[in-house]
Amino acid sequence: MFANSNVLVINCGSSSLKFSLMDAITGKVFVDGIAERLMTSAATIKINMLDKHNKLSLNAPFDHKIAIEKLVELLTQANLIEKISAIGHRVVHGGEQYSQPILITESIKKTITQLSKLAPLHNPANLIGIVAAQQAFEQLPQVAIFDTAFHQTMPEKAFMYALPYELYQQNSIRKYGFHGTSHYFVSQQAAKQLRKPIEQSNFISAHLGNGCSVTAVKNGQSVDSSMGFTPLEGVMMGTRSGSIDPGIIFYLVEQLDYSLNEVNQLLNKKSGLLGLSTLSNDCRTLEQATSSDDSEKSRLATLALAVFCYQIAKSIASFSASLTNLDALIFTGGIGENSTFVREQILTHLSLLNFYIDDEKNQTTRLGVSGNICTTNSRPCLVIPTNEEWVIAEQTYSLLQQKNQG
Ligand code: ADP
Repeated sequence: MFANSNVLVINCGSSSLKFSLMDAITGKVFVDGIAERLMTSAATIKINMLDKHNKLSLNAPFDHKIAIEKLVELLTQANLIEKISAIGHRVVHGGEQYSQPILITESIKKTITQLSKLAPLHNPANLIGIVAAQQAFEQLPQVAIFDTAFHQTMPEKAFMYALPYELYQQNSIRKYGFHGTSHYFVSQQAAKQLRKPIEQSNFISAHLGNGCSVTAVKNGQSVDSSMGFTPLEGVMMGTRSGSIDPGIIFYLVEQLDYSLNEVNQLLNKKSGLLGLSTLSNDCRTLEQATSSDDSEKSRLATLALAVFCYQIAKSIASFSASLTNLDALIFTGGIGENSTFVREQILTHLSLLNFYIDDEKNQTTRLGVSGNICTTNSRPCLVIPTNEEWVIAEQTYSLLQQKNQG
């Protein structure tokens, strides 16, 4: 019987592994942490266990498998290991195959591998985490939760590109949308805060972190999202350009002798806030730099933030075409939850949609605080801290309960 609701959530990237052991029902976290710079000599693993902080740096470079073994060791010492009932994995790309959480089997692993061609930076790393966890927790069921799943309700008119149709039919080239788990979580929370059934709730949700995406949610379902075939499309981000004229790519290759790999690096790693400011991808650093004595530094930081906020505001406004009602705008992610400056700048562009910021509420709603930052005569704009780990734990637990009952 699947009685225990404690789930270990694993989010594995190419050089990092985040984990969180939590009660899927209450969201209470017992252990969390991150292993970073894996496979380099600077690899570290930080584990926060029930108020105790453990930071381990091993002398030799270590990989995902050893990071999980270290975690198992500490969980065993703390008598927590037998309290885990299942493992939930974040998997970035589920293609058109997966719109729901799925119990991981050998054939599911094969499909995730096949989908790697759509997400070469992410799915292979997610699989490394799955394999390492299967070795460490042989007896436990493992579930995959896909970042694209929430967006599988997008209608054709939203997900098709104006390219020859056979590229969709034969090569699966279409918009998928990402950050689905986060947009799902904050829209559920927003409906609760507004005391409306989620099936009747309409939102535009802006997840603004290192990666940024905006999603239109109609009657609780995603109907459009700014990220596309890859997470590169849409609004500019920390280091990603977001949408640009594809003609720039031809120009870079044909006239400026860029290789395709260099274009890829440029658009994914060297653009966005970092590229425009020439200073940093970090919103806090740029906000500080706007008042720097160095006038060029302050000019470029101000410019980068202005382009960022304007692009996000335009993306939000464009999604009014996807909805017939709008109950609230939602801000989440590190920037959306904390940056009073960015929120204010974005909302200044949105007065035509009847958004008017309340300065005092904007200042007090940050650092984990949730609430409406707009005036009483404005349409609501809710700041809601995201919690993708809790969604993964909750969906893992529900799936296994259904399987046990069915
Ligand atoms: P990720 O997408 O990697 O999960 P986060 O959601 O943590 O990233 O967001 C990271 C971004 O949030 C960074 O640009 C960081 O500067 C920004 N951020 C975090 N705290 C603040 C703050 N207090 N004020 C402004 N920006 C913040």
